[in-house]
This record gives sequence, structure tokens and C-alpha cells, in this order.
Amino acid sequence: MPEDLRDFIRHRIRRDLADGRHDTVVTRFPPEPNGALTIGHAKSICLNFGVAQEFGGRTYLRFDDTNPLRESQEHVDAIERDVAWLGFSWGERATFASDYFEALYGFAEQLIRQSDAYVDSQSAADIAATRGSFTTPGTPSPWRGRNVAENLDLFRRMCAGEFADGEHVLRAKIDMAAPNLVMRDPVLYRIRHATHHRTGDAWCIYPMYDFTHCLCDALEGVTHSLCTLEFENNRELYDWVLDHVDINYHPPQIEFSRLNLEYTVMSTRFFRQLIERGHVAGWDDPRLPTIAGLRRRGYTAAMIRDFCERIGVTRQDNRVAMELLEFCARRALEDAAPRAMAVLDPLAVTITNYAGGPGETVTAPWHPKRPEMGERELEFGPRLAIERADFAASPPPKYRRLSPGAMVRLRHGYIIRCDEVVEDADGAAKELRCTYFPNSKSGSDVSGLKPKGVIHWANQRVAVPASVRTYGRLFNVAAPDPANMVADLNPNSVATAQALVEPAVLASPAERFQFERVGYFHKDPVDSRAGAPAFNGIVPLRESRKP
Ligand code: ATP
Ligand code: MG
Repeated sequence: MPEDLRDFIRHRIRRDLADGRHDTVVTRFPPEPNGALTIGHAKSICLNFGVAQEFGGRTYLRFDDTNPLRESQEHVDAIERDVAWLGFSWGERATFASDYFEALYGFAEQLIRQSDAYVDSQSAADIAATRGSFTTPGTPSPWRGRNVAENLDLFRRMCAGEFADGEHVLRAKIDMAAPNLVMRDPVLYRIRHATHHRTGDAWCIYPMYDFTHCLCDALEGVTHSLCTLEFENNRELYDWVLDHVDINYHPPQIEFSRLNLEYTVMSTRFFRQLIERGHVAGWDDPRLPTIAGLRRRGYTAAMIRDFCERIGVTRQDNRVAMELLEFCARRALEDAAPRAMAVLDPLAVTITNYAGGPGETVTAPWHPKRPEMGERELEFGPRLAIERADFAASPPPKYRRLSPGAMVRLRHGYIIRCDEVVEDADGAAKELRCTYFPNSKSGSDVSGLKPKGVIHWANQRVAVPASVRTYGRLFNVAAPDPANMVADLNPNSVATAQALVEPAVLASPAERFQFERVGYFHKDPVDSRAGAPAFNGIVPLRESRKP
């Protein structure tokens, strides 16, 4: 199938171009700069920038900055960084709804002059209470009959700062009995005495989303205004506004389904709550499905784009399995990530018959299938460490790792046999005293020994101590209840280990590694210190359904 026919939106664009309805494609990605972008936004970014690229059009990065209380330049900068990092460019087309405040104000006055808008002096609570329901019509405001002159005067005085927040609003005069509740005289402007991050104190009235969005789309010549399905009911208002002002262009609003992921919530609002209550460390907490969090976790832009490609674009609301995102990570890392060894929960191993001095160098390929990645040097010696979980004092049948009297191969090194277990006061193993077989070196093994298992190890003399974090799901349930999300949080969503990592990892310029038998890890750009790296687990080697 040709690229452009992948989904109903590309179908529609192809048709509009073929019909001559448009001769180019103009889209926009309209984030509100009030928090970090999520992988849900990434779906919209890939779609908006993607279709424009495919059809030779252009895309605006338009900040929807109509609520000065929550918005900031800091979020604008972070959003620009994330969109650019995802691999998309907007060129000269970074715009702001606030660029159009003057024009929007003019359209509002036009609606007033046409008797299509009026100043309502009811409180927000009264406006909400008189809206009616799906089964009952709303009640008209006592101020609905104000004449044009009075409305214009009040609106200008609202704008001039004569009134306090909430004293008046501007509402569209549509139909208080409209079956679509959105059409029951929606609020177009509210008073908000707050300093805006771009317009400062120039304005104390701010336009509402429904009024702003359609007009900005039209002013920018957007040919396809793509938004998520929860705006389906707002489409009627989108069209109403454009039909009632003098503007010679009317873009179509086209809805697609929002991305939801299992085992997480997906909204700036919910993430802010989790951050404010201290459940996660910040917008870039590696457990959050924010772009910043995924990047810090170790996801690359290519993995996220691959994921967005695979989920596709439909009108079907659903929740995508986290395994798909993890699959995209594994798929890329399998080939790209150099291999290394790290022991997350070290148990000391002493090689009692080691006579080679402090140690000897053994070499291992960085990647088993990519010789061009070269080799790294490891040091084998008398004081090693293995994973505590790779030893069993009383092994179950067919155990393939180390146990008293048993043999195992140390990956890229030698075969060892456990002769003696030194226990601590509680009876837990604290050191294994082992024999190694000098003629069993990996690659030149002439020992004839056939141990069943191969385990990873570290050398206590040269290993780098590293803090290694592994992550579970942020929530215990696939569909957390946003209203009560704290109850669904997984208390064990992160585990930090003081690990021993092979030293070649420090010298390597790579940022992502497969720690053999454990998983894929990313050198944390924030917490790593010279000589003391921190790593974030990206994904385990294999899929696991456990939260
Ligand atoms: P959030 O609560 O996460 O901020 P939002 O709907 O307020 O979501 P905006 O900041 O207004 O998001 O988002 C800009 C664009 O990104 C909108 O067009 C919106 O439809 C789209 N978008 C946001 N979340 C998702 C999602 N989960 N899946 C697909 N598109 C999304
Ligand atoms: Mg938002």
C-alpha cells in the first residue's frame, strides 16, 4: 500500500488534493505550554508533521497559550526541545495563540455587533447550574437580552480591566436548548487578571479554547485540523464560530482516537498531580510516559516514531499494551546496543587456586553478531562476584547455575566449581570459595568439562560501582482510575541496586548497553558522575507480563 493510504486521514488528504480542494497540506500541532509532552502528544506530532512531510506540505507548532495561570516559557522551551528531538522541524512556523489576541478580540466584537454574543454577569457556578442536561434544556441567562450597545460597552470595559475575575464573561448566543451541550451559549472570553508569559499585562481577558482554536487554524490556513476524539462534540462550535465571523477560510476538523497506554495514565494534568504529591520525581521521571521521561529512561526518538507508526491512526478508542512500546525498544537495541556485564546484586566469589597474580585480561566482542563493533577487555582474577540469584544452596532439580559442588561457566572466562560456602550470622551465603579450571578458558577450552550453565560476573578489583535502577510498571492495574490513581500506584515501580559494572563501559562512548542476561540499560545523563555512573533499565531482555 502506498505510504499515503495508511489510514483514513491520509486517505482523506489524498482525496482533497486529487479533488483540487487543496493544493497543499497545512497542519498544526497545538500543545498548551502547561507541562511536558507525553507519548500521546508524540502520536499527534508524528501524525501532523508526518502527513505534511509525506504530502510536501508544512506544519505549525502552535502554542495554545490562552491560560496564563498554568503556562510558561519554560514549558515552551521544553516542548520545542521535545518536538525537535523527535525529529521534526517547524522552521519559521512556531506560533502562539497569543500572537492573534488582537485579531480574536476583533472577531469577538463582530459577534457582539451581530447579536451573536452577549456579556453574561452570572457567576461561573450559575452558568454551570443553568446549562441543563442531556434530557433537559438549559435556562437562558437573565442577561441574554442585553442590547448590542450595552454588550459592547461591557466587553470593552472587561478588556480595560474595570472588573474583577469572574464578574462577567462573554458568551456566544446560540441555543440554550441545543441537543449538543457545547452549543448552549458557550463562554468565549473570561476575565483573568494574571501576567501572561508572552503578553505580560497587556490583556486581562483571555479567549477560550473553542473560540481560539478554530480562528487560529483559519488564520494560518490549516487545511486539515487533526484533533482527538474528545473534541468531536466541539466540532459543531468550531464550525459555528467560523461561519459567524468574516474570515474567508474554514478548515475541517477531523478527529482521531487518543493514545492510551496500559498500566499508566496519560495526561499532563495527572502527571502534575503525581509530581506535586511526590509520587514521581519530575516531568522527566523515567517511569512517566512523557517524552522527557522516556528519553531519560533510554528510549530513542526512532523507537517512539516506530511505536507511533505501529499503533496507527483510527477512530477506535483503545488502550495499547505497554509490551508494544517495549517491543520497539528491544527491536532497536538488539542490534544497536553493545553487550557488557553488570552484577546487580553481588555475591563474592574467591578463586582459591588462582595463581596468576592480580588478574589476567580476557577479551569479548562488544556484540555477538556485529564484529565491526570490536572487542572489549575484561579482567579475570581471584576476587570476583556473581549475581546472588545465580547461586542456590539447595538447588531445585535441573538447576543450571551455581550450587555447592556444581560447575558453571563464567561468561567469556573460565569454568569454576563451588567448593565451599561461607555464611553470615543469619545463614545467608556471603562468599563462595571456588576452584577454576585453567584449561577451560572461553574460546580455547580443552578441559572437556561440560557445565550446564553460563553466568555473568564482575571482577571486584576493577569493577565500577554503579547505581542501577530497574523499573516496573508505574501502576498495578492496566487501566488505573484517574480519579483515584494513588490507590492504583505500584509501590515497587523502581528498584535501585548498587551494582558492579565492567570497566570498559565507562570508557565506551555508547549510552545504551545490554547487560548480559539482565536487560537493556541507559547511562543516566542527569545522575551519572565521573567514575560513578547511574543506569536506568530500559527494558528487560524478554517480555514479562508482570506489573
Ligand atoms: P494533556 O492533558 O496530556 O495535556 P491535552 O489534550 O490537553 O492533553 P494539548 O496540550 O492540548 O493536550 O495537546 C496538543 C495536541 O496533542 C492536541 O491536538 C491533542 O489532541 C494531542 N494529544 C494530546 N494527548 C494525546 C493523546 N494521548 N493521544 C493523541 N493525541 C494527543
Ligand atoms: Mg495539555
